[in-house]
Amino acid sequence: MVGVTSPLTTAQAQLASAVDILGYSPGLHEMLATPRREMNVAVPLRRDSGEIVLFRGYRVQHNISRGPGKGGLRYAASVDVDEVRALAMWMTWKCAVVDVPYGGAKGGVTIDPRGYSADELERVTRRYTSEIMPIIGPERDIMAPDVGTDEQTMAWVMDTYSVNLGYTIPAVTTGKPLTVGGSLGRATATGRGVVHATQAALADAGVALSEVRAAVQGFGKVGTHAARWLHEGGARVVAVSDVDGGLRADDGLDVAALLRHVAQGGRLTDFPGGEPVSNAELLTLDVDVLIPAAVEGVLDEETAAGVKARWVVEGANGPTTTEGDRVLAERGIVVVPDILANAGGVIVSYFEWVQANQAYWWTEREIAERLEQRMRASYDAVAAQARSESLTLREAALTIGVQRVAEAHQIRGLYP
Ligand code: GLU
Repeated sequence: MVGVTSPLTTAQAQLASAVDILGYSPGLHEMLATPRREMNVAVPLRRDSGEIVLFRGYRVQHNISRGPGKGGLRYAASVDVDEVRALAMWMTWKCAVVDVPYGGAKGGVTIDPRGYSADELERVTRRYTSEIMPIIGPERDIMAPDVGTDEQTMAWVMDTYSVNLGYTIPAVTTGKPLTVGGSLGRATATGRGVVHATQAALADAGVALSEVRAAVQGFGKVGTHAARWLHEGGARVVAVSDVDGGLRADDGLDVAALLRHVAQGGRLTDFPGGEPVSNAELLTLDVDVLIPAAVEGVLDEETAAGVKARWVVEGANGPTTTEGDRVLAERGIVVVPDILANAGGVIVSYFEWVQANQAYWWTEREIAERLEQRMRASYDAVAAQARSESLTLREAALTIGVQRVAEAHQIRGLYP
C-alpha cells in the first residue's frame, strides 16, 4: 500500500513549506532538516532452525533540542533508513505541537514480524536493543511501539536495557505492559486522540460526531480504537480494513461485535456482518470522515481525487503525499494532520514516562481527562493559527511545531 512518493520526500517538502512560511534562513532550514544522530546496526538472528539470518536496524534521533528523543520502533519488511528519518522528523514536530518536552526519534528493523516466532522476535529485539544501548535511555531517547511491535516488544527492550545496567529502568520505554510500569489508557490513546481531533474538527463546522459516517483504513493499534471510540461516540462506522482487505456495511458495522471477533483470533475479512471492500475502494467511499490509520503515502494525487469525505483525519504517520495534500486542499477537504491527529499516543507515552519517573501511577480517569484536554488545546491552537494566518491545518501545525523547535535551538545557542 506504500505510495510511490517516499515518506522522506513528503516530510522534507512539509518542512520546506513551514520554513518558507516562517521565513527562516537556509542554515536554520538545514539544521532542522538534518538528524542530530543516527545509528545503523546489523541485527543477526539465530533462527529456531539454527540458521543465521541478518537484518538491518536503525535508530534516528532527528532532534533533541526540546528534550530527549522520543518515538516508536517499527518492524516491517519495507523499513529503510530514509523511512525512519521521515518518521523521526514527524515525531519532532508532533511532540512540539502538543508541547510534550521531547525531541523526535524513531527506530526500525527491516523484518516482517509475521514470518518469525515469538522467540525469534525476542532475540531480534534484545540484540537490536543491545546494539543501540549507547544512544538510548530514559533521559536520552525513549522508545514506544509502532507498526509491527507491541507492549511485549517494549517489555523486552526495557528488560535488556535494565539487565545490562544492573537495575530496573521502566522509563526507557513507553507502551509497556501495566505489570512492568505501563500506563492505564496508553494502548487506546492514539485511537482515542484521533476521535478527540475528529470531534474538534467537526465542531468547527457545527457538526456532531453522532451525525457522521466514517471509514477507517487500518485495524491495528490505532484503527481498532479509533473505530471503537467513533462507534461509542455515536458515529456510524461504515467501513474498516486491514492489510488483507476490508469490510463495509452502509448502515454501519457492529464495531463491538467486530472487535470481539478479532480479539478471538478471527480475520477481519471473515466477519459475517459486512460486504468485502478493498483498501483502495475504502478511500473513495461516500462518507463524511475518512481516517487513514495504516501506512504512509496512501493518499496521493490520484487517490486524493477520488476522496468523497469532507474530513480526512490522519491516524497514520504520513498517509498523504504532498501532491495528495494539494488535491485535497483544492477540493476543500479538511485534513487534520498526523502530527496533531495521532499525537494521543505520544501524549500518554509522556504521561507513562512521568509516572515511571515518579514511581506513582495515575487513575484511568485522570489520564483520559488530561489526554482530552491536551488534544483539544492543541487542536484549538492549530485551528486558531490556521484561521489567523489563512493556512491549512497541516501548515498551521507544522509552523507551530517547527517554530517551537527553532526557538529551542536559538535560545540554547550554537555550541561552540
Ligand atoms: N509510534 C507512535 C507514533 O508514531 C508513538 C510514539 C511514542 O509514543 O513515542 O506516534
